[in-house]
Amino acid sequence: MKFSEIPGHDNVKERMRLMASSDRLPHALLLEGPEGVGKLALARAFAQYIHCENPGPDGDACGECRNCRLHQSMNHVDTHYSFPVVKLDGMTNAPISDDFYKEWTEFTAGRIYTDIESWASTFNKRNANPQIYVTESDELVKQLAFTSHVTRYKIVIMWLPERLNETAANKLLKMIEEPFEDTIFILVSNNPAGILPTIYSRVQRLSLKRLPDATVAENLMKRGGLDRADAMAIAHNAAGNMIAALRLLESDKEIATYFDFFVTLMRLAYLRDVKKLREWTEDLTALGREKEISFYEYASRMIRENFMLNFNVPALSYLSATEHNFAVRFSRFITVRNVEKLMEVFGNAIRDIAGNGNGKIVNFDVAIKTILLLKQ
Ligand SMILES: [Zn+2]
Repeated sequence: MKFSEIPGHDNVKERMRLMASSDRLPHALLLEGPEGVGKLALARAFAQYIHCENPGPDGDACGECRNCRLHQSMNHVDTHYSFPVVKLDGMTNAPISDDFYKEWTEFTAGRIYTDIESWASTFNKRNANPQIYVTESDELVKQLAFTSHVTRYKIVIMWLPERLNETAANKLLKMIEEPFEDTIFILVSNNPAGILPTIYSRVQRLSLKRLPDATVAENLMKRGGLDRADAMAIAHNAAGNMIAALRLLESDKEIATYFDFFVTLMRLAYLRDVKKLREWTEDLTALGREKEISFYEYASRMIRENFMLNFNVPALSYLSATEHNFAVRFSRFITVRNVEKLMEVFGNAIRDIAGNGNGKIVNFDVAIKTILLLKQ
């Protein structure tokens, strides 16, 4: 990871360059700030910059020397990653980070913005709550005492020290109080209030700010499919958190999909096109249970909103521009005669799908009932 790959934070990058060039590297550095701004990526870039054999005049790692290549493939022997992990069923001892290093490498590959929720979901365990166990602190003591270096500095990047359990934190404190020579701890925290105060007071701190809306918007646009206005709207709601922006983008996309399914259902039911409704059934079933249920929740909301529109109560209507344009023509079909029954059909579909009913049968049944209920 190079500095240039990470948007923003020019002041922090400059501080890091100065620390490295003045040879005044702290034994322990804390990067603190909100989630979704790129702190872990900056820690990685800083470690690579320190180890790079040939940093460029642009103030960045060269990206080509042996050390850079090892960093980029996450194989640098003098860089240790400590991160929260989960004790899986069947494990007798609490795990160490290295037990999940393969997963970690995949998770961080090319990823500038990381969040604990996404990381937790990579563990095959319900309600996984990753933490750093005391076994990891013991492992660090072992690794740092081992003196064979290929570079001058050994670097420990610890992601989310607020997730150290108490014994583990006390052992880390000891390592920070009595540092091994040429060892640098880079701690990366979303919640510094959760760090042992004795650790917090002993580390040099760099605070990272939320990302500017324009930076978030540009990043969204790079991923494609968004114009500036839409990207800025999402960026504004994400409040400088790239993870939140990506989640919003994802839910926008999902809603667009549900809208398409809803419009298709209503159009085909109105045309009584049973053959095409069979295709609609197949497509909806292919989304999988969770999304089928979300679709029916969405469809219920659309029916309610369209019914409201018939009573000319715009204050109660929460439709987007696209949904509203459709509703202007469609709402007259939703009346006192069928509104409750349609809601009931969708409600039953949710119940049946959640109860492991056969999606194809449930969805086709909805299609047929919708034909009957739309009939004027
Ligand atoms: Zn290099």
